[in-house]
Amino acid sequence: MKFTKKSQEHMDACRFCWMCRHICPIGNATGQERNTARARALGLSLVAREAVAYSEDIINNVYECALCGACVKECVTGWDPVAFTKEARLVAALDGKLPPYVLKMVTAALETGNVYGATPDDKLTAKIKGLKKSDTLFFLGADARFKTSANAVEAIDLLLALGVDFAVLENEPDSAYGLDFLVGAAAETKAAAEKCAKVLNGYKKVICYDPADAKIFRREYKEWGVDVKAEVLTFTAFLADLLKDKKVKKSDLVFTPQDSAILARDLEETEPIRAILARIGEVSEMLCNRRDTMLAGNLIMNEYMPLVMLRVASDRWTNAKNVGAKTVVTESPAEYAMLKATEPDGMTVLTVEEAVAKCL
Ligand code: SF4
Ligand code: SF4
Repeated sequence: MKFTKKSQEHMDACRFCWMCRHICPIGNATGQERNTARARALGLSLVAREAVAYSEDIINNVYECALCGACVKECVTGWDPVAFTKEARLVAALDGKLPPYVLKMVTAALETGNVYGATPDDKLTAKIKGLKKSDTLFFLGADARFKTSANAVEAIDLLLALGVDFAVLENEPDSAYGLDFLVGAAAETKAAAEKCAKVLNGYKKVICYDPADAKIFRREYKEWGVDVKAEVLTFTAFLADLLKDKKVKKSDLVFTPQDSAILARDLEETEPIRAILARIGEVSEMLCNRRDTMLAGNLIMNEYMPLVMLRVASDRWTNAKNVGAKTVVTESPAEYAMLKATEPDGMTVLTVEEAVAKCL
């Protein structure tokens, strides 16, 4: 498969530019020039011109991007490395050139419904079984179900404590977020999205625990013509609205939001977390906040470049330390897992539900 004209235009624009090199969380973690938008664009532009083969090294480089959109946000001329990187992943898939670590996850997603090929946690399954039927679905997503299931249980407990009527699916369908991350808009990704949308459309409202699922339901499904009739909300937005009518204790805790790149840049949703935290304590900001946020981790990439992901999370802790933050609050299961794994002495990462539960 060839690259689209649009992607080639974006690669050509990026390949000799260095203006966003300082902003890439992966480049900052590795210190390597290959992990910049421009270096990726240079390699891919040569592949698109058929001047070099689409080699293993160039393909590996394509998978070293977190698709976090920091470069896109920084680009004053409006070029989009995320779009051409996603297309490069699709090209690798269609050409049968996926690296083994990617193929393993894609195969797992197709065979088991999650890129990790994992089975559900017993405690979470028991919790889900105890819930009643409802026309509101709480969609947990693969990262929460298979990597941070204790948090998923806590989020369910919080919604129950707040009197919310909702259901959670024991056999939740794959949202296709993992497939979209790994191979973009392939036929298999769209088929998984169609299958998931059929389930979502059995509900009036869908509350997404993971911002990644809210994003794919609202943005990519629309782009692919996959119709979701249910109202799709993020967990944070739902909770912020819910808490308006609830009694909560204002604590003397100072919370620092770790904005999810997906929420802040793709969904342009940054205020609900602040509204929640301001109800239960004081909000103190990172220097790079809201749309300028820096990624703190990605669990899919943690499967094949764990040391770099630990470094990415540690770098975000350094940002937090530099503003004197003690308690960082995240909306993303992936960022929670990576920040927890690198939590420095005297500092804490909390999920939004953990922070709220402290003040009920
Ligand atoms: S995204 Fe913009 S700033 Fe970054 S390399 Fe491309 S053209 Fe330069
Ligand atoms: S999308 Fe994020 S990880 Fe990828 S090149 Fe841009 S800043 Fe770096």
